This record gives sequence, C-alpha cells and structure tokens, in this order.
Amino acid sequence: MGVRGLTWIAGALLLLVGGDAALAAPRAGEGLRLSQILQTLDATPAGHRLVKRAAVAWKLERVNQLLAYLRWGTVSKTDAVLTRHFDPVTGKEERSRQVVIYLRRDLPIEETVLDLAHEIVHAMEPPLWDPYDPELTATKYIQVSIEGAGGEVDAVFEECTVANDLVRSKTGIAARSPASRARLSDRCHRYGHENASGRIDRSLIMKDFYAVGAWRDRLQKQLGKEHRVLQALSDDEPVLYSSTGRTPYPVALLEEFEQMNEVACANSRRRESAGALRALASMPGKPAENARFLKNRCQGRGA
Ligand SMILES: [Zn+2]
Repeated sequence: MGVRGLTWIAGALLLLVGGDAALAAPRAGEGLRLSQILQTLDATPAGHRLVKRAAVAWKLERVNQLLAYLRWGTVSKTDAVLTRHFDPVTGKEERSRQVVIYLRRDLPIEETVLDLAHEIVHAMEPPLWDPYDPELTATKYIQVSIEGAGGEVDAVFEECTVANDLVRSKTGIAARSPASRARLSDRCHRYGHENASGRIDRSLIMKDFYAVGAWRDRLQKQLGKEHRVLQALSDDEPVLYSSTGRTPYPVALLEEFEQMNEVACANSRRRESAGALRALASMPGKPAENARFLKNRCQGRGA
C-alpha cells in the first residue's frame, strides 16, 4: 500500500493512488534485471498463474509485455491513477485507470520476486473502493483494503505461495543459496510456509494484519461502534507494518482514509460551486448523491 492523494485538475477529477515520491532514477542494466525478476516469478507454478491472470486482465499477448508496468522505486508499491472525466454536454462520466508497479531496488532477487507477486495481486484487481461513495466509512475502507479481493491478505497469500514454490524447486534460487532459502522462510514461516501440506493459511495472515497492539483502544474509539465489524482486530503484538508509516496496517489505513476524505470533500465542494452539478442535473440521482456524500462524509471537516 502507499500514500494516497487526490488532486483536482481543471474539469477532470484526478485520483492518484500512491505518489511519485518512490520514483527513483533508472540505472544501467536495470531493465535486464526487471526481466529476470519477471522470468523467475513466471517459472514458479503460483507465479505463472498470477502472471497469466495479469496478462488477461491487461489484455497482453506476451508475458514480457508486463515489463511496461514495472519500475524501480525506493519502496515496493502499486500506483493507480484513476481519472474521471465529465462531459458537460452529455453529463456522462468516463473513468480510466492506469497502473504502475514499483519494486524496491535494494533487495535480493528472491525478495523482489515476492514483492512483484504481492504487487501484481493489488495491481490487477479493480479498485476496492470509490472515494466518492457516500456510504464509505473508515471502517469499511480498512476492511476492504485488508480483506477485499486483491487486498493485503490476498497479496500476502500469493507471495507466500510463490515462496513455497521457490523453496520446493530443486533447481531454483533457493536450492542454490541457503541464504535465499532463509530469507524466503523468514517472510512466510508464520503462514504455513514449508509445512507438510505446503498450503498457506489465510486466517493466520488475517490475524497478523489486524494485530495492532497498544494502538487498539485509540483505533476503536476513532472508528466508533462500527469497529465491531473488524472482528479480527486485536491487541496482539503487531507483526506487519505498512511500508509508508511505522504503524500497523489498520492505523495507517485510517490515516490514509482521513487524508483521502479531506481531499474528496474539498473536490466535491468545488464541483458544486464550479457548476459541474448543473451539467449533471439531467442525470437522475447524481446531485442527490453528491449531497449525500457531503452530508455523510464531510460534516465537521472544514466546510
Ligand atoms: Zn500490499
């Protein structure tokens, strides 16, 4: 996951998921290494399934066309730029989404392969939430980001399934290097990695994502009664920390939601005053939806 932000640009509402802070300058030979990483992932059974799903989702003919989506960065993350265009004449809205996967450049190859598996899971699914959904709440945002299709649990499940394949392969990187094998095990041993069945346990991953330790009481207070929906939330010692902050995922996700909400509210007010709603008046429900959005999501937020 990354820092998410929204920007208003003349006439179009541009949503940036992630930022460009992690964009790092390319170095000689890096294109080659990205293709090695993609090939190593594709050579594992679980990785091959993932790569094929991504190719179908993005309508690619060849696996190496996936390279066009990959960049080096300072952290591994997926950026999706979602653009909404309003046609003032027809009142119709068009949406497009462009995805870039950044891979942290200073990791050993087997870890970068797991990062790629993880980010592909995030990247190929459609967005998990609509920033302008009047019914979206912080609790729902946290739940869907962790438990939704293509969310964090799915991503770790797939990366650890790939780790299992790498460790079981008699010819792969883990077979050649005990250090590689140890690093793979380090990342996934909590979830059934290398156990007899070779199956990764999703419920153990879920448990870790919701372990927030001393943050629990404050988080529950901030989320209000709705926090009960997050049944796995516990004060167990946190194990998984978000890549952007030094906080457990639910805490970082709440912060992200607040930031996103602030910008979405400012944009919605601007839309109203810019007359975009007048253009949409012919579309039944739209102005009412904007009003509901402002009422549900923006009260007491610096109108
Ligand atoms: Zn993730």
